[in-house]
Amino acid sequence: MKTKVDKDIILVGAGLTGLTFCNFLKDTDIKISIFDVNPQEFYNSFNDDRHIVLSNTSKIILSNMGIWGELESHCTEIKNIHISKKHIFGSTIVRAKDENIDSLGYQIPLKRLLNMLYESIRSSKNISVYSQSEVVSVIQDDIINVKFMNNKKEEIISSRALIFTSGSQLDIVKDLFEPKIQKDYKQNAIVCEILTNSYDSITAFERFTDDGILGVIPRKKNSWTLIYSTNLKESNYIYELSKSKLKYYFQSLLGSKCGEIMDIKNLVSYPLKLNFYENFTNKNTCLLGDAAHTLHPIAGQSFNLSVRDCLEITKTIKEFSKADNINFSHIFSDYESKRRKEVKRIVKFTDFLSTFVHGRNIVKNKFISLFLLMIDSNKALRTDVIRYLLGVNFSDKLISDMKNK
Ligand SMILES: Cc1cc2nc3c(=O)[nH]c(=O)nc-3n(C[C@H](O)[C@H](O)[C@H](O)COP(=O)(O)OP(=O)(O)OC[C@H]3O[C@@H](n4cnc5c(N)ncnc54)[C@H](O)[C@@H]3O)c2cc1C
Repeated sequence: MKTKVDKDIILVGAGLTGLTFCNFLKDTDIKISIFDVNPQEFYNSFNDDRHIVLSNTSKIILSNMGIWGELESHCTEIKNIHISKKHIFGSTIVRAKDENIDSLGYQIPLKRLLNMLYESIRSSKNISVYSQSEVVSVIQDDIINVKFMNNKKEEIISSRALIFTSGSQLDIVKDLFEPKIQKDYKQNAIVCEILTNSYDSITAFERFTDDGILGVIPRKKNSWTLIYSTNLKESNYIYELSKSKLKYYFQSLLGSKCGEIMDIKNLVSYPLKLNFYENFTNKNTCLLGDAAHTLHPIAGQSFNLSVRDCLEITKTIKEFSKADNINFSHIFSDYESKRRKEVKRIVKFTDFLSTFVHGRNIVKNKFISLFLLMIDSNKALRTDVIRYLLGVNFSDKLISDMKNK
């Protein structure tokens, strides 16, 4: 006798990754349920100031998905990145124009992106969204039973496959996957909005200071996102400063690059850790997004990497679902073998950058100085670094397959 199964796939977490995954499979025959503890209104409120930088590759993927058009009016295009290190000789400016690409990245309010991804799946018949529903336990077998709480009421739902898109914090993941690689960078990212007297810039600045990395990325008009990842001592000191002292502090780190800082808003601090599951699938369960890899934000890679993961896994699901008896263990293991190399290399690359460029060591400074000069004078090397940062190196085939569909 066949057991009745409610769904093909259950997703735990309707953040950026879960919703991106659903958008790739909307209006197909795959029956999906996606759970999140957040209420529905969460996706329609724009009071959160966080911004995120999407790569050119992510833009191409989201355009193909059909949600870029509306997003574009909220984006700021980054055409140039100026990279320098305080107190050392050597800097470089990377220009989209020189590398024959549209843009080096697009900065966008995170809540706009989340809203667009959410609205675009709401009317899809194959996707059910469970808001204010917390997944509390999972029993994995050929059929997976998922227990969740909604309005203090306990319910159980079953599926053939389960994907955790739950971010980096969920404990039940530990019981299903081999231990993850963890690293506490002992750093915080201080993030805020700065308003300056310089308007409509198309240049972002990345500056290695004595103790950290300062990124200043243009928004609309005279507004910028400032993100400074630095050791605990400096970040805790900064966090306690009064607004006027803070302005002075950031101005002295940044110099006059973005003009004079007029105001600072929405100061937030995030602890920085690496969390990475080398084996991100286990039979009919899988980890996706920050649940699989949470990276240092130094190169703005985490979600961009997840977009490419989502494209690959949904492509594999579509291919396999043509068969009568869809086997998610095969699908997930196929997906893992295709993505393992890129994921590992991005994790290593980001970890190297965030560990190596921090600190005052003289040999390191000499090396960085030399590296900046080399990038500045060597176009092939510069193009390679850019392709790496934009996620182009690994995704050419993925993108061409998507476009040829
Ligand atoms: C300072 C900073 C700057 C960054 N900048 C960039 C950038 O420029 N570019 C980039 O690509 N990335 C960037 N990132 C990373 C990016 O923000 C994350 O990769 C992305 O937001 C992760 O999305 P996610 O959906 O995987 O996880 P999350 O956003 O954590 O979403 C997980 C969801 O799961 C839900 N959930 C968790 N547990 C349960 C449960 N038991 N039941 C139901 N629901 C549950 C949560 O409510 C949440 O909505 C940055 C990160 C930081 C900290």
